Order: sequence, then C-alpha cells, then structure tokens
Amino acid sequence: MTSLVTRCLSWIFRSQCAACGQAVPSGLPFCPPCAGALLENLVCCPRCADLLPGARAVTCLRCLRKPLPLHKIVAPWQYGGALAQAIVRMKFQRRVEIARTLAPLVGSVLVATARSIEATLIVPVPLHWSRRLWRGFDQSRLLLGHMAASTPPPCPVASALVRRRATPYQSRADAAARARNVASAIAVAPRWRSRLAGARVVLFDDVVTTGATMAACARALQAAGATQVVGVALARGGSP
Ligand SMILES: [Zn+2]
Ligand SMILES: [Zn+2]
Repeated sequence: MTSLVTRCLSWIFRSQCAACGQAVPSGLPFCPPCAGALLENLVCCPRCADLLPGARAVTCLRCLRKPLPLHKIVAPWQYGGALAQAIVRMKFQRRVEIARTLAPLVGSVLVATARSIEATLIVPVPLHWSRRLWRGFDQSRLLLGHMAASTPPPCPVASALVRRRATPYQSRADAAARARNVASAIAVAPRWRSRLAGARVVLFDDVVTTGATMAACARALQAAGATQVVGVALARGGSP
C-alpha cells in the first residue's frame, strides 16, 4: 500500500524537463538534450547584449548610432532552443513552476550587476494588470521572487513601475511599432514618484528583444530622478 502511494506521489510530482516536459531525475531542470541546447550569450554587444555575428564582442551599429537610454543591458542567455521552449511553457501554458527552474540561470548575474553599480533598487518590468489577471502571474516578479529566495539581492526589489495600458504582444510587432506602443504605456507608480531621486536601478525582465520596453522603463525612471539604470534579462532575442 505504502509503495503504491509512493509510486502515485512520485508520478504526480515527478520532475519534468522545463523545456520539453520529459521526465528527468529529481532536481534536474532540463533533460540532457535540452540542457545541451541552452545557448550562452557570449558574443554580444556590451551595451545592449544583442547577438553579434562575428567572433568579437564589440558595440553594435545600433548602439553606435542611437544608444538605448540605459547604461547597459546584461543577458546571459540567447532566446532560442530549449530556453525559449521553457519560457513559452511558463508564460503561455501557465506553468508557474518553471520559474523556479529558470531563476538560477540569471540569479548570480542579477546580483553581480546590482553590486557593480551599487544599485539601490531592483525593479521588474511591469505587466499590465489585465495580462497578469489573464496569465495568473507576472513572470518577471515571479522570477525575481525565486532569485531572491536562492540568491539574496544586495538591495530591495520594488514594483516601482506600472503599465498604464495593455500593449500588443511585443513578439508580434516590429521594432518601430514596439517603441511606439510601449513609450507612453510605462509610468512610475504613484507612491514611488518622490522616492527615485538619485536611485541606481537594475531593471529586470525575462526576455529582451528590441530593448524598447526597457528603454521606456529607463526613461520613466530617469524622469523621476534615477541617475543610473541597467537592464538585466534572462534571455536576449535578436533585434528584428
Ligand atoms: Zn527536455
Ligand atoms: Zn548594442
């Protein structure tokens, strides 16, 4: 009887690969093929973390022509393959438990970046309340919560930004449309308006694609007095 209960419980709570859903030994986040398909973002622009085609990490043309209003963006992984599968499952199949698996992939980078600028605040990129209601959670806040539990950050985490209106899914818009959509949608939360003077902020999002959302967040924080804003994301998608 006990062994039947144990077998049933171990089936219900069996560990799954965060990307493909295959059973994996307890404690492992990905099955071996998916773990091998994670792509580190090693050769990227040091300002915006965009993927570069060459072998050297040099400032990309876009940052040379029109840099984003952030000191820099750091993203340790490329958006694609197994990591993209895991993020899609988390966000669009509402697999909230996958956030726990993904958080350690960026936790140490977040802490190191916060320390490097002596950050005073870590701020998640906000989700509109309607999307949070539909999804049931806010992935950036959820990831930050898991990161804080395993790798305590050196400064407070605060939802100092709000999204005033829902914007179309960024993945379906081109770069110019993304910038237009999001520029007026991000604002400092009322209770933070007088508390950001001199702040050094780490912005956190799960995925950065064009940087338009992070740019809008940075402009709002800077308008409220923040003196430095650095972005950290779990994954960097290529700019379209
Ligand atoms: Zn897998
Ligand atoms: Zn760049």
